[in-house]
Amino acid sequence: MNDLKENTMASADKYMFQTYGRFPITLVKGDGCRVWDDKGKEYLDFVGGIAVCSLGHSSPIVTAALEKQSKELVHVSNLFYTRPQTDLAKMLVDNSFAERVFFCNSGAEANEAAIKLARRYGNEQFGKDKYIIISMQNSFHGRTMATLSATGQEKIKHGYSPLLNGFKFVPFNDINLLAKALDDSVCAVMIEPIQGEGGVICPDPDYLAKVKDLCKKHQALLIFDEVQVGMGRTGKLFAYEHFGVTPDIMTLAKALANGLPIGAMLSTEDLASAFGPGSHATTFGGTPLVTAVSLAVLNSLLNDGWIENCNKTGKYFKERLQDLVDKKDSCVEVRGKGLILGLEIDSPGAPIVQTCLKEGFIINCAQEKVLRFLPPLIVTESEIDLLINVLKRIL
Ligand SMILES: *Cc1c(COP(=O)(O)O)cnc(C)c1O
Repeated sequence: MNDLKENTMASADKYMFQTYGRFPITLVKGDGCRVWDDKGKEYLDFVGGIAVCSLGHSSPIVTAALEKQSKELVHVSNLFYTRPQTDLAKMLVDNSFAERVFFCNSGAEANEAAIKLARRYGNEQFGKDKYIIISMQNSFHGRTMATLSATGQEKIKHGYSPLLNGFKFVPFNDINLLAKALDDSVCAVMIEPIQGEGGVICPDPDYLAKVKDLCKKHQALLIFDEVQVGMGRTGKLFAYEHFGVTPDIMTLAKALANGLPIGAMLSTEDLASAFGPGSHATTFGGTPLVTAVSLAVLNSLLNDGWIENCNKTGKYFKERLQDLVDKKDSCVEVRGKGLILGLEIDSPGAPIVQTCLKEGFIINCAQEKVLRFLPPLIVTESEIDLLINVLKRIL
Protein backbone atom coordinates (compact mmCIF):
# COMPACT_ATOMS: atom_id res chain seq x y z
CA MET A 1 0.00 0.00 0.00
CA ASN A 2 2.80 2.36 0.93
CA ASP A 3 4.49 1.72 -2.42
CA LEU A 4 1.30 2.56 -4.25
CA LYS A 5 1.12 5.86 -2.39
CA GLU A 6 4.73 6.74 -3.19
CA ASN A 7 4.18 5.84 -6.81
CA THR A 8 1.08 7.97 -7.34
CA MET A 9 2.65 11.03 -5.77
CA ALA A 10 6.08 10.57 -7.31
CA SER A 11 4.60 9.92 -10.76
CA ALA A 12 2.33 12.95 -10.57
CA ASP A 13 5.28 15.08 -9.55
CA LYS A 14 7.33 13.70 -12.42
CA TYR A 15 4.82 13.70 -15.28
CA MET A 16 2.47 16.61 -14.60
CA PHE A 17 3.03 20.34 -14.57
CA GLN A 18 3.59 21.38 -10.98
CA THR A 19 0.78 23.93 -11.01
CA TYR A 20 -0.76 22.76 -7.73
CA GLY A 21 0.49 22.76 -4.17
CA ARG A 22 -1.12 19.46 -3.21
CA PHE A 23 -1.75 17.76 0.10
CA PRO A 24 0.61 14.77 0.34
CA ILE A 25 -2.17 12.19 0.23
CA THR A 26 -3.80 10.12 -2.51
CA LEU A 27 -7.55 9.81 -2.15
CA VAL A 28 -9.26 6.67 -3.36
CA LYS A 29 -12.81 6.69 -2.02
CA GLY A 30 -15.53 8.94 -0.67
CA ASP A 31 -18.90 8.60 1.03
CA GLY A 32 -20.99 11.54 2.24
CA CYS A 33 -18.70 13.96 4.09
CA ARG A 34 -15.92 11.36 4.39
CA VAL A 35 -13.03 10.43 2.10
CA TRP A 36 -10.32 7.78 2.45
CA ASP A 37 -6.73 7.72 1.30
CA ASP A 38 -4.84 4.76 -0.16
CA LYS A 39 -3.65 3.75 3.31
CA GLY A 40 -7.20 3.49 4.57
CA LYS A 41 -7.02 6.67 6.66
CA GLU A 42 -10.37 8.44 6.97
CA TYR A 43 -10.86 12.19 6.64
CA LEU A 44 -13.86 14.42 7.31
CA ASP A 45 -14.09 16.73 4.32
CA PHE A 46 -14.76 20.41 5.06
CA VAL A 47 -13.68 21.54 1.59
CA GLY A 48 -15.99 19.39 -0.53
CA GLY A 49 -13.85 19.55 -3.65
CA ILE A 50 -13.83 23.38 -3.25
CA ALA A 51 -17.58 23.98 -2.80
CA VAL A 52 -18.45 21.37 -5.43
CA CYS A 53 -19.71 18.20 -3.74
CA SER A 54 -22.76 19.71 -2.03
CA LEU A 55 -24.57 16.38 -1.79
CA GLY A 56 -21.37 14.74 -0.58
CA HIS A 57 -19.18 12.06 -2.13
CA SER A 58 -20.63 9.03 -3.91
CA SER A 59 -24.08 10.57 -3.69
CA PRO A 60 -26.64 7.93 -4.73
CA ILE A 61 -28.53 10.70 -6.53
CA VAL A 62 -25.53 11.45 -8.73
CA THR A 63 -24.74 7.77 -9.25
CA ALA A 64 -28.31 6.96 -10.34
CA ALA A 65 -28.51 9.89 -12.78
CA LEU A 66 -25.08 9.07 -14.19
CA GLU A 67 -25.90 5.43 -14.68
CA LYS A 68 -29.25 6.06 -16.33
CA GLN A 69 -28.11 8.82 -18.67
CA SER A 70 -24.80 7.16 -19.60
CA LYS A 71 -26.79 4.25 -20.98
CA GLU A 72 -28.97 6.56 -23.09
CA LEU A 73 -26.86 9.40 -24.47
CA VAL A 74 -23.60 10.98 -23.29
CA HIS A 75 -22.70 13.60 -25.88
CA VAL A 76 -23.96 14.78 -29.26
CA SER A 77 -22.71 18.40 -29.46
CA ASN A 78 -24.80 21.54 -29.50
CA LEU A 79 -25.80 20.96 -33.11
CA PHE A 80 -28.77 19.11 -31.61
CA TYR A 81 -31.47 19.61 -29.01
CA THR A 82 -31.40 17.28 -26.01
CA ARG A 83 -33.97 16.84 -23.27
CA PRO A 84 -31.81 17.04 -20.10
CA GLN A 85 -30.14 20.27 -21.28
CA THR A 86 -33.50 21.87 -22.05
CA ASP A 87 -35.02 20.73 -18.75
CA LEU A 88 -32.06 22.07 -16.76
CA ALA A 89 -32.26 25.45 -18.50
CA LYS A 90 -35.98 25.66 -17.69
CA MET A 91 -35.39 24.66 -14.08
CA LEU A 92 -32.67 27.30 -13.61
CA VAL A 93 -34.92 29.94 -15.19
CA ASP A 94 -37.94 28.88 -13.10
CA ASN A 95 -35.90 29.24 -9.92
CA SER A 96 -34.00 32.47 -10.60
CA PHE A 97 -34.28 36.01 -11.95
CA ALA A 98 -33.01 34.78 -15.31
CA GLU A 99 -34.76 34.11 -18.61
CA ARG A 100 -31.91 32.65 -20.70
CA VAL A 101 -29.12 30.15 -20.05
CA PHE A 102 -25.85 29.33 -21.82
CA PHE A 103 -24.09 26.11 -20.75
CA CYS A 104 -20.32 25.62 -20.64
CA ASN A 105 -17.84 23.55 -18.66
CA SER A 106 -16.35 25.57 -15.83
CA GLY A 107 -16.56 28.72 -13.76
CA ALA A 108 -13.94 30.47 -15.86
CA GLU A 109 -15.87 29.67 -19.02
CA ALA A 110 -19.12 30.92 -17.50
CA ASN A 111 -17.40 34.19 -16.61
CA GLU A 112 -15.76 34.32 -20.02
CA ALA A 113 -19.25 34.09 -21.54
CA ALA A 114 -20.50 36.82 -19.19
CA ILE A 115 -17.64 39.13 -20.19
CA LYS A 116 -18.24 38.48 -23.89
CA LEU A 117 -21.99 39.03 -23.55
CA ALA A 118 -21.50 42.30 -21.63
CA ARG A 119 -18.99 43.56 -24.19
CA ARG A 120 -21.16 42.63 -27.14
CA TYR A 121 -24.32 44.08 -25.61
CA GLY A 122 -22.51 47.33 -24.78
CA ASN A 123 -21.10 47.46 -28.26
CA GLU A 124 -24.40 46.80 -30.02
CA GLN A 125 -26.57 49.03 -27.86
CA PHE A 126 -24.26 51.97 -27.15
CA GLY A 127 -21.31 51.80 -29.53
CA LYS A 128 -17.74 50.56 -29.40
CA ASP A 129 -16.60 52.86 -26.60
CA LYS A 130 -18.74 51.14 -23.99
CA TYR A 131 -16.48 48.25 -23.03
CA ILE A 132 -14.93 48.88 -19.60
CA ILE A 133 -15.62 46.22 -16.98
CA ILE A 134 -15.17 47.13 -13.33
CA SER A 135 -14.46 44.35 -10.89
CA MET A 136 -13.27 44.19 -7.32
CA GLN A 137 -9.89 44.07 -5.65
CA ASN A 138 -9.26 40.61 -4.19
CA SER A 139 -11.87 39.10 -6.49
CA PHE A 140 -11.47 35.77 -8.23
CA HIS A 141 -13.13 35.05 -11.57
CA GLY A 142 -10.99 32.31 -13.12
CA ARG A 143 -7.72 31.53 -14.90
CA THR A 144 -8.42 32.09 -18.59
CA MET A 145 -6.93 35.30 -19.99
CA ALA A 146 -10.20 37.26 -19.87
CA THR A 147 -11.24 36.04 -16.44
CA LEU A 148 -7.70 36.56 -15.13
CA SER A 149 -7.90 40.09 -16.52
CA ALA A 150 -11.08 40.51 -14.46
CA THR A 151 -9.49 39.07 -11.32
CA GLY A 152 -8.28 41.53 -8.67
CA GLN A 153 -5.29 39.58 -7.31
CA GLU A 154 -1.85 40.53 -8.56
CA LYS A 155 -0.14 37.35 -7.39
CA ILE A 156 -1.99 35.08 -9.83
CA LYS A 157 -1.68 37.54 -12.74
CA HIS A 158 2.08 37.72 -12.45
CA GLY A 159 3.97 36.97 -15.67
CA TYR A 160 0.99 36.96 -18.03
CA SER A 161 1.03 40.51 -19.27
CA PRO A 162 -0.27 41.99 -21.40
CA LEU A 163 -3.65 40.97 -20.07
CA LEU A 164 -6.88 42.09 -21.73
CA ASN A 165 -7.59 45.78 -22.02
CA GLY A 166 -10.54 47.46 -20.38
CA PHE A 167 -10.65 46.19 -16.80
CA LYS A 168 -10.67 48.46 -13.75
CA PHE A 169 -10.62 47.58 -10.09
CA VAL A 170 -12.14 49.13 -6.99
CA PRO A 171 -12.17 47.90 -3.37
CA PHE A 172 -15.10 45.62 -2.44
CA ASN A 173 -17.61 47.39 -0.15
CA ASP A 174 -16.44 50.89 -1.14
CA ILE A 175 -19.41 52.47 -2.89
CA ASN A 176 -17.77 55.90 -3.22
CA LEU A 177 -14.78 54.63 -5.17
CA LEU A 178 -17.11 52.61 -7.39
CA ALA A 179 -19.19 55.74 -8.03
CA LYS A 180 -16.01 57.58 -9.02
CA ALA A 181 -14.87 54.81 -11.38
CA LEU A 182 -18.26 54.27 -13.02
CA ASP A 183 -18.96 56.37 -16.09
CA ASP A 184 -20.75 55.80 -19.38
CA SER A 185 -17.80 53.86 -20.84
CA VAL A 186 -18.50 51.04 -18.38
CA CYS A 187 -20.46 48.13 -19.88
CA ALA A 188 -20.55 46.02 -16.72
CA VAL A 189 -19.69 45.69 -13.06
CA MET A 190 -18.62 42.18 -12.13
CA ILE A 191 -18.80 41.08 -8.53
CA GLU A 192 -18.99 38.04 -6.27
CA PRO A 193 -21.92 38.66 -3.86
CA ILE A 194 -19.66 37.12 -1.20
CA GLN A 195 -15.95 37.01 -2.02
CA GLY A 196 -14.77 33.42 -1.64
CA GLU A 197 -11.09 33.18 -2.61
CA GLY A 198 -10.69 36.73 -1.29
CA GLY A 199 -11.16 35.39 2.25
CA VAL A 200 -14.96 35.01 2.69
CA ILE A 201 -15.83 38.71 2.63
CA CYS A 202 -19.53 39.60 2.92
CA PRO A 203 -21.03 42.77 1.47
CA ASP A 204 -22.11 45.54 3.83
CA PRO A 205 -25.90 45.90 4.14
CA ASP A 206 -27.22 47.79 1.09
CA TYR A 207 -23.86 47.72 -0.71
CA LEU A 208 -25.10 45.50 -3.54
CA ALA A 209 -28.32 47.52 -3.84
CA LYS A 210 -26.25 50.67 -4.22
CA VAL A 211 -24.03 48.96 -6.79
CA LYS A 212 -27.15 48.09 -8.76
CA ASP A 213 -28.41 51.70 -8.60
CA LEU A 214 -25.08 52.99 -9.90
CA CYS A 215 -25.14 50.44 -12.73
CA LYS A 216 -28.63 51.53 -13.73
CA LYS A 217 -27.62 55.17 -13.72
CA HIS A 218 -24.83 54.49 -16.23
CA GLN A 219 -26.58 51.75 -18.22
CA ALA A 220 -23.97 49.24 -17.11
CA LEU A 221 -24.85 45.58 -16.61
CA LEU A 222 -24.51 43.96 -13.21
CA ILE A 223 -22.79 40.56 -13.28
CA PHE A 224 -22.92 38.35 -10.19
CA ASP A 225 -20.29 35.62 -10.12
CA GLU A 226 -22.06 32.93 -8.08
CA VAL A 227 -19.68 30.18 -9.16
CA GLN A 228 -18.75 29.53 -5.52
CA VAL A 229 -21.72 30.87 -3.56
CA GLY A 230 -24.57 29.68 -5.79
CA MET A 231 -26.54 26.42 -5.62
CA GLY A 232 -27.60 26.65 -2.00
CA ARG A 233 -24.17 27.23 -0.46
CA THR A 234 -25.25 30.35 1.47
CA GLY A 235 -28.58 28.95 2.67
CA LYS A 236 -30.57 30.22 -0.30
CA LEU A 237 -30.44 28.75 -3.80
CA PHE A 238 -28.60 31.87 -5.00
CA ALA A 239 -26.67 34.30 -2.81
CA TYR A 240 -28.29 37.35 -4.41
CA GLU A 241 -31.61 36.34 -2.76
CA HIS A 242 -30.16 37.40 0.61
CA PHE A 243 -29.62 40.95 -0.58
CA GLY A 244 -32.80 41.71 -2.50
CA VAL A 245 -30.78 42.59 -5.59
CA THR A 246 -31.01 40.81 -8.93
CA PRO A 247 -28.20 41.01 -11.47
CA ASP A 248 -28.48 41.19 -15.26
CA ILE A 249 -26.09 38.25 -15.63
CA MET A 250 -25.19 35.46 -13.21
CA THR A 251 -22.57 32.76 -13.54
CA LEU A 252 -22.65 29.31 -11.95
CA ALA A 253 -20.38 26.27 -11.96
CA LYS A 254 -18.78 24.48 -9.01
CA ALA A 255 -21.72 22.72 -7.28
CA LEU A 256 -24.00 22.70 -10.31
CA ALA A 257 -23.52 18.97 -10.98
CA ASN A 258 -21.84 17.92 -7.72
CA GLY A 259 -18.51 17.21 -9.39
CA LEU A 260 -19.20 16.73 -13.07
CA PRO A 261 -17.76 19.64 -15.02
CA ILE A 262 -20.42 22.19 -15.94
CA GLY A 263 -20.79 25.95 -15.94
CA ALA A 264 -23.72 28.18 -16.80
CA MET A 265 -24.21 31.83 -17.67
CA LEU A 266 -27.72 33.14 -17.03
CA SER A 267 -29.22 36.45 -18.07
CA THR A 268 -32.39 38.43 -18.54
CA GLU A 269 -34.27 38.42 -21.86
CA ASP A 270 -33.04 41.94 -22.73
CA LEU A 271 -29.57 40.60 -23.38
CA ALA A 272 -30.59 37.59 -25.47
CA SER A 273 -30.31 39.36 -28.82
CA ALA A 274 -26.59 40.12 -28.23
CA PHE A 275 -25.86 36.37 -28.19
CA GLY A 276 -27.43 35.19 -31.45
CA PRO A 277 -26.45 32.20 -33.61
CA GLY A 278 -22.69 31.97 -34.13
CA SER A 279 -21.80 34.57 -31.50
CA HIS A 280 -20.56 32.11 -28.88
CA ALA A 281 -20.24 28.33 -28.62
CA THR A 282 -18.63 25.32 -26.98
CA THR A 283 -18.38 21.66 -28.00
CA PHE A 284 -19.05 20.08 -24.62
CA GLY A 285 -21.22 22.74 -22.94
CA GLY A 286 -24.25 21.13 -21.32
CA THR A 287 -23.93 17.54 -22.55
CA PRO A 288 -26.91 15.27 -21.85
CA LEU A 289 -24.75 13.46 -19.27
CA VAL A 290 -23.75 16.44 -17.13
CA THR A 291 -27.11 18.17 -17.43
CA ALA A 292 -28.98 15.00 -16.41
CA VAL A 293 -26.79 14.84 -13.30
CA SER A 294 -27.22 18.54 -12.67
CA LEU A 295 -31.01 18.19 -12.93
CA ALA A 296 -30.97 15.42 -10.33
CA VAL A 297 -28.73 17.51 -8.06
CA LEU A 298 -30.91 20.60 -8.38
CA ASN A 299 -34.04 18.53 -7.75
CA SER A 300 -32.52 17.14 -4.58
CA LEU A 301 -31.35 20.56 -3.38
CA LEU A 302 -34.84 21.98 -3.86
CA ASN A 303 -36.90 19.04 -2.64
CA ASP A 304 -34.87 17.10 -0.07
CA GLY A 305 -34.30 19.94 2.39
CA TRP A 306 -30.56 20.40 1.87
CA ILE A 307 -30.77 24.17 1.59
CA GLU A 308 -32.67 24.30 4.90
CA ASN A 309 -30.05 21.97 6.37
CA CYS A 310 -27.36 24.34 5.11
CA ASN A 311 -29.10 27.20 6.88
CA LYS A 312 -29.46 25.36 10.14
CA THR A 313 -26.06 23.69 10.31
CA GLY A 314 -24.42 26.81 8.90
CA LYS A 315 -25.83 28.82 11.79
CA TYR A 316 -24.67 26.19 14.28
CA PHE A 317 -21.20 26.06 12.69
CA LYS A 318 -20.87 29.85 12.75
CA GLU A 319 -21.85 29.98 16.44
CA ARG A 320 -19.24 27.35 17.31
CA LEU A 321 -16.59 29.31 15.36
CA GLN A 322 -17.72 32.47 17.16
CA ASP A 323 -17.13 30.64 20.49
CA LEU A 324 -13.54 30.12 19.34
CA VAL A 325 -13.19 33.81 18.50
CA ASP A 326 -14.59 34.71 21.95
CA LYS A 327 -12.26 32.36 23.79
CA LYS A 328 -9.04 32.31 21.79
CA ASP A 329 -6.69 35.24 21.28
CA SER A 330 -5.42 33.64 18.06
CA CYS A 331 -8.90 33.86 16.45
CA VAL A 332 -9.81 37.25 15.02
CA GLU A 333 -13.18 37.04 13.29
CA VAL A 334 -15.71 34.67 11.75
CA ARG A 335 -17.42 35.58 8.46
CA GLY A 336 -19.78 34.08 5.93
CA LYS A 337 -23.29 32.76 5.38
CA GLY A 338 -24.70 29.25 5.37
CA LEU A 339 -21.87 26.81 4.72
CA ILE A 340 -19.29 29.17 3.28
CA LEU A 341 -17.53 30.27 6.46
CA GLY A 342 -14.18 31.86 7.12
CA LEU A 343 -12.27 32.06 10.39
CA GLU A 344 -9.62 34.74 10.33
CA ILE A 345 -6.68 33.95 12.59
CA ASP A 346 -3.68 36.04 13.63
CA SER A 347 -1.02 33.86 11.96
CA PRO A 348 -0.61 31.97 8.67
CA GLY A 349 -3.29 29.32 8.19
CA ALA A 350 -1.20 26.79 6.25
CA PRO A 351 0.29 25.02 9.33
CA ILE A 352 -3.21 24.74 10.85
CA VAL A 353 -4.49 23.18 7.63
CA GLN A 354 -1.62 20.63 7.76
CA THR A 355 -2.26 19.77 11.40
CA CYS A 356 -5.98 19.31 10.68
CA LEU A 357 -5.07 16.93 7.86
CA LYS A 358 -2.95 14.82 10.23
CA GLU A 359 -5.93 14.73 12.58
CA GLY A 360 -8.17 13.54 9.74
CA PHE A 361 -9.89 16.81 8.78
CA ILE A 362 -9.69 18.50 5.40
CA ILE A 363 -9.94 22.28 5.62
CA ASN A 364 -8.58 25.01 3.41
CA CYS A 365 -6.96 28.40 3.66
CA ALA A 366 -8.10 31.41 1.60
CA GLN A 367 -5.68 34.31 1.52
CA GLU A 368 -3.00 33.88 4.11
CA LYS A 369 -4.83 33.93 7.41
CA VAL A 370 -8.39 32.82 6.71
CA LEU A 371 -9.38 29.23 7.39
CA ARG A 372 -12.20 28.51 4.95
CA PHE A 373 -14.89 25.88 5.42
CA LEU A 374 -17.01 24.64 2.49
CA PRO A 375 -18.37 21.28 3.61
CA PRO A 376 -21.03 19.34 1.72
CA LEU A 377 -24.48 20.80 2.51
CA ILE A 378 -25.39 17.42 4.05
CA VAL A 379 -22.90 17.90 6.91
CA THR A 380 -24.31 17.24 10.41
CA GLU A 381 -23.88 19.14 13.68
CA SER A 382 -22.00 16.21 15.21
CA GLU A 383 -19.53 16.23 12.31
CA ILE A 384 -19.07 19.96 12.87
CA ASP A 385 -18.46 19.30 16.60
CA LEU A 386 -15.64 16.90 15.71
CA LEU A 387 -13.88 19.62 13.72
CA ILE A 388 -14.49 22.28 16.36
CA ASN A 389 -12.92 20.04 19.04
CA VAL A 390 -9.77 19.73 16.94
CA LEU A 391 -9.64 23.45 16.18
CA LYS A 392 -10.11 24.19 19.91
CA ARG A 393 -7.11 22.02 20.68
CA ILE A 394 -4.73 23.25 17.99
CA LEU A 395 -5.50 26.96 17.67
C1 LIG B 1 -13.76 28.72 -8.67
C2 LIG B 1 -14.23 30.05 -9.10
C3 LIG B 1 -14.14 30.45 -10.44
C4 LIG B 1 -13.45 29.62 -11.50
O1 LIG B 1 -14.06 28.40 -11.70
P1 LIG B 1 -13.26 27.24 -12.50
O2 LIG B 1 -14.31 26.16 -12.64
O3 LIG B 1 -12.12 26.85 -11.65
O4 LIG B 1 -12.85 27.81 -13.80
C5 LIG B 1 -14.68 31.66 -10.79
N1 LIG B 1 -15.27 32.46 -9.88
C6 LIG B 1 -15.37 32.10 -8.58
C7 LIG B 1 -16.05 33.02 -7.61
C8 LIG B 1 -14.84 30.89 -8.14
O5 LIG B 1 -14.91 30.56 -6.86
